[in-house]
Amino acid sequence: MSDESEPIGILALQGGVIEHRRHIEALGLRGRDVRYARDLDGLAGLILPGGESTCLGRLLRMTGLDRSILAAHRERRLPLWGTCAGAILLATEIAGESPHLGLVDMTVQRNAFGSQLESFRRRAQIPAVSREPVPLVFIRAPRIVRVGPSVRVLLALDGYVAAVESGGCVLATVFHPELSSSLAFHRYFAGLCGLAVPDSAPWSREPFLGLRQAV
Ligand code: GLN
Repeated sequence: MSDESEPIGILALQGGVIEHRRHIEALGLRGRDVRYARDLDGLAGLILPGGESTCLGRLLRMTGLDRSILAAHRERRLPLWGTCAGAILLATEIAGESPHLGLVDMTVQRNAFGSQLESFRRRAQIPAVSREPVPLVFIRAPRIVRVGPSVRVLLALDGYVAAVESGGCVLATVFHPELSSSLAFHRYFAGLCGLAVPDSAPWSREPFLGLRQAV
């Protein structure tokens, strides 16, 4: 069990960092931006945010953070959660491309719903995560088109997989919980990190800026 004072890190090289951080802090937890290997010290878990996976992968390699993250995961089971581009970083296979961290036995297909204009929202019941249906925001999202036997499917939608868990401490979602008002996924990840979030802590918060009308 982690100490409650340990922060959850958010990889802060590119992409949707502040939205994750605000969700973490809304739960009464500490967040920490991660830019260097030393920022991984003492983390309860690490979020790999959405953004652009090619760019994130390149920055991970340039900074050496790819090796540091893999080492922290291997040596002390650092919990990891990838959202959208972050989920792509975690996959062992990316259709037509080389993988990045290659930690979750799954194949992803990038930009599987089309262009940015084909972004969409929906709701789904995910029993492992929340009693209430959770809002899902898809932005130029990938699909998970294959999962290995060790991977637990948390949410399957129309013919593809949208959320998985692997090895008890790695979570991958092709949508963006940090862009919705719901804190359910951040609570769930805090649980995987061994951090206790009291039931009295909020289950939702004002969505980020322009998304106020959206979800
Ligand atoms: N389309 C991006 C990619 O393939 C992911 C988009 C996102 O993270 N919202 O890397």
